[in-house]
Amino acid sequence: MHSTRPTLIVGSVAFDTLHIGGKCHEKVLGGSATYASIAAAHFGPVQLVGVVGRDFPDSATRLLRDRGVDLAGLEIADGDTFHWEGRYSEDLSSRETLRTDLNVFANFKPKIPGAFRAAPFVMLGNIDPTLQIDVLEQIDRPRFVLADTMNLWIDIRHAELIALCKRVDLLVLNDEEARQLSGQGNLVRAARALLAAGPKTVIIKKGEHGALLFQGDDVFSLPALPLGGVADPTGAGDTFAGALIGYLARSNDLSTTNLRKAVVYGSVLASFCVEGVSTERLTSATPHEVNDRFEHFRRLTAF
Ligand code: AMP
Repeated sequence: MHSTRPTLIVGSVAFDTLHIGGKCHEKVLGGSATYASIAAAHFGPVQLVGVVGRDFPDSATRLLRDRGVDLAGLEIADGDTFHWEGRYSEDLSSRETLRTDLNVFANFKPKIPGAFRAAPFVMLGNIDPTLQIDVLEQIDRPRFVLADTMNLWIDIRHAELIALCKRVDLLVLNDEEARQLSGQGNLVRAARALLAAGPKTVIIKKGEHGALLFQGDDVFSLPALPLGGVADPTGAGDTFAGALIGYLARSNDLSTTNLRKAVVYGSVLASFCVEGVSTERLTSATPHEVNDRFEHFRRLTAF
């Protein structure tokens, strides 16, 4: 069941070099917009806005197009594609960045194609909040805007992030970022402070410990699916957010009950994402497998 309501996704498209459990996966497909787009495309059409260099292979653009991602907003600039290198700890619970080559991403100024400006559902992936605001300036008033961010922007673009908060419906961030942005150590207080800054809804991701959804006085807590094996945690957060907004676009229902379901779908796709290296397993998951895992969550949380 695919909707005709597209989801517009802006973010990074990258090559990632990943050191995981003694193995090195060199220059595999990555980036926040890549993961989010493939995840959202499980639910309906996606319009991606990003930049790559001349080295970006046809096989990668084909993979995205074949999934139903419209690449009219993917700029091909002179230079190399953004490259990120990271090493995971043995238990995969943490990672360190070894290298960030911004390359063509350094001069990225998102340009929203005319045909994308009426997108009703918009995900502002993790980029400079100044650029996230710039994207909002270029589009018609969307029905729903989700913004993601990271510690770097909380450090160096705090005021811009607070300004952005006033213009988004849903802010998605991890527990550490929520504490840092709000200045509150307790997550419930952090969420309340963030809600007071503007967004109607705040989701705090806690990695392998699941996610918390805050809306007004309502709180929803979902564990992560206990998985037998994790191959590569990269992109789980972007996948979570992409699937969540893709599901909302498909269902076109912004009720609290449906937002809870969207959190479950986000967690379902994130569980597939981490089972394979790069976007492998996220791409291969079938609608049947997605539904099966949704039901698995129902059993997991029923009592
Ligand atoms: P996640 O594991 O969800 O935090 O996302 C990982 C993805 O973020 C990787 O595929 C990287 O290419 C991308 N990434 C890493 N650093 C940055 C950055 N500074 N800006 C944008 N994307 C980044």
